Amino acid sequence: MKWTNDRSGNVDDRRGSGGGGGMLVGGGLGSLIIAAIVFFLGGDPSAILSSGNSGGAQTEQRDLTPEEMKVKEFVSMVTAENDQTWNKIFAENGMEYTPAKVVMFESVTQSGCGTAQAAMGPFYCPADQTVYMDMSFFKELEQRFGAQVTEFSIAYVMAHEIGHHVQTLLGTTQKVDQLRNNGQYSESEMNKVSVATELQADFYAGLWAKQTDNRENILEPGDIESAISAAEAVGDDNIQKRSQGYVNQEGFTHGSSAQRREWFMKGYNTGDIKQGDTFNALLK
Ligand SMILES: [Zn+2]
Repeated sequence: MKWTNDRSGNVDDRRGSGGGGGMLVGGGLGSLIIAAIVFFLGGDPSAILSSGNSGGAQTEQRDLTPEEMKVKEFVSMVTAENDQTWNKIFAENGMEYTPAKVVMFESVTQSGCGTAQAAMGPFYCPADQTVYMDMSFFKELEQRFGAQVTEFSIAYVMAHEIGHHVQTLLGTTQKVDQLRNNGQYSESEMNKVSVATELQADFYAGLWAKQTDNRENILEPGDIESAISAAEAVGDDNIQKRSQGYVNQEGFTHGSSAQRREWFMKGYNTGDIKQGDTFNALLK
């Protein structure tokens, strides 16, 4: 991925600041896995999750390494290119775009949606319209899920999260919440709605890649493949196979690897926001 000269002022880097001031739960994915094992064996996982409080897992205040500073630079560049591309797309459709904020953190931090833990991976919180980026997630992606992680795969994950921000600005998030809250739908029907929501965020990420490349020439050979490899690695079928050894389509909440590839590429190939109605495509 080629770098541009744009940088966003909306990135809040909380790494190295000493834990984020909230309840500290240590251990990252390791303690989550232990918690899952305890849960399946019938124990109380909260006993393990909260035991991190008193241990040595709290992050201490420290200076960021030059490599970490470079990652911050990269994240504020990708944020700026999201702002510019979505500004343009919204303006073309007679709407006004409000940029998302981006928080970079390690271990744990407070979000408008509760305590954010590194083990959760990157996510978007609609309540404070902020993307929370735990950068250690990308090491997990490489080591645990076998994805080929490049700068562009990080950009893809950010664009996916900002895709959820776009859904919030367009009212899609609120409609999905209403469906969930009115209780009319079964769990497997709501899983389909959730898959459609996630695949649309992938579609938006592909759309962003295309339109940003048109504006700024950011793509290099192999970039799109690396984004797809990241998307496929975190497809529900892959995660289920790794965690439970079989695939159960009813339990999908993010879409299969093939679906994630398909919708990212549809966004990329069409470059047209009107082609992204995953709800109609999946729920009819
Ligand atoms: Zn998502």
